[in-house]
Amino acid sequence: MSGLTLNVVIVGAGLGGLAAAIGIQRAGHKVGAGIQIPPNAARILSQWGLIPSLAKHSKIPIATNFRSWKDGQLRYRACLQLKERFGTDFFNIHRADVHGDLVEAAEALGVVFRLGATVEDIDFHTASVTLKGGEIVKGDVVIGADGQNSACKEILLGHKVSPLPTGDLAYRLTVRESDMRKHPSLHPLLESGTTDLWMGPDAFLVGYLLKEAGFYNIALICPDTLPEAVNIAKATPMEMQEVLADWDPQLQTLLGLVEKTQKWRMLTSEEMECWGHKGGKFVLMGDAAHAGLPYIAQGAAQAIEDAGVLSALFAKITHPSQLPRVLKLYEKLRKPRTSRIVQASFDQGVAYMLPDGLEQRERDRKLAVKGAKQLPIRSIDPAFQAWMLGHDCVAEAERAWEEGDG
Ligand SMILES: Cc1cc2nc3c(=O)[nH]c(=O)nc-3n(C[C@H](O)[C@H](O)[C@H](O)COP(=O)(O)OP(=O)(O)OC[C@H]3O[C@@H](n4cnc5c(N)ncnc54)[C@H](O)[C@@H]3O)c2cc1C
Repeated sequence: MSGLTLNVVIVGAGLGGLAAAIGIQRAGHKVGAGIQIPPNAARILSQWGLIPSLAKHSKIPIATNFRSWKDGQLRYRACLQLKERFGTDFFNIHRADVHGDLVEAAEALGVVFRLGATVEDIDFHTASVTLKGGEIVKGDVVIGADGQNSACKEILLGHKVSPLPTGDLAYRLTVRESDMRKHPSLHPLLESGTTDLWMGPDAFLVGYLLKEAGFYNIALICPDTLPEAVNIAKATPMEMQEVLADWDPQLQTLLGLVEKTQKWRMLTSEEMECWGHKGGKFVLMGDAAHAGLPYIAQGAAQAIEDAGVLSALFAKITHPSQLPRVLKLYEKLRKPRTSRIVQASFDQGVAYMLPDGLEQRERDRKLAVKGAKQLPIRSIDPAFQAWMLGHDCVAEAERAWEEGDG
């Protein structure tokens, strides 16, 4: 802690905004669904004492099985017991549970929530936000953590920003573990302790068991068939079965248990030139700053890393005049890393969804080589994985501050 107490207004209480609220509050300042939490994010939550509550609600998968779409044949098994290599586990958890854990931790630190408040305007010079209804909330600094359809980003840029369609959509759903137990062919998915991923032409499906809820989490990515003006819609289990009609029969059994589902258009955003206002009292974080595709399971993790860096730098501030340097350094440290991960997530989707043919056979050939150094799936390529999961963003931020960077 620096001894100085700043009032920090965080717009958005998603996973990124909540993590920032915890980190910045811990630094001594005041702040008004299934998801995978990899070691690079868990490391930060661990520094804030949140691993016990995370572990209570999580499954720690032992591996990811990459399978062929046709018959479920194993193409590659990636070990996920990563504690020895990266210092923390890899957690599969229900979104509501991790959100609840973060809310509890933030409230225990005295973070004040304004639920149901929509930010409509920001005065970047006075660090104040105008809420729907006209109320003005003033701080010393404002952090825009309001997700992919960010109002903060539009106010900063001064024009409307529409996320770009990618040609894909995602069905997201859960199936009851008790229903799966009635089908012996599905038992291996419940008992193996793995995350399973079927790679196929223009689509992929990933599934893993959640802990306390007793549900198996499924995401199916496939070509976008939503009408132009609609980004989210109700969907039927039957349409998912049609998408995967010729796939591994195990999946038809699994999808036969689905009661209801929704589909979301997969959107992306153009990289921003910069995330902050030149006055040094406002910056974006999380999806508002660097939304990408979720295929590498790093969106929330990168938002938590943003929060880790902000908290490390806020802990160093001794005078409000240092705020512009803090926000500049934060962006300098975060932007290249998040851009690389956004690109890697896109590449990962391409590798998963190759149509049968030359490139797909080459992908599977490389996956079959024991101890191969360069793998076509970014998250399991040894060098990229070490860079992505082994990064200690808090230590990097502290070092950069001490060295006078920014
Ligand atoms: C299908 C799918 C699967 C995914 N799976 C994973 C995964 O396994 N692992 C992973 O790491 N990531 C995953 N992600 C990505 C991850 O969900 C996001 O990257 C992450 O939630 C971003 O967090 P955030 O806090 O920046 O934004 P959000 O979680 O979107 O939160 C934004 C918050 O701001 C609020 N808000 C919006 N506008 C305003 C306003 N004007 N005023 C006030 N508040 C406002 C919203 O209500 C919301 O609470 C997935 C995403 C999708 C779509």
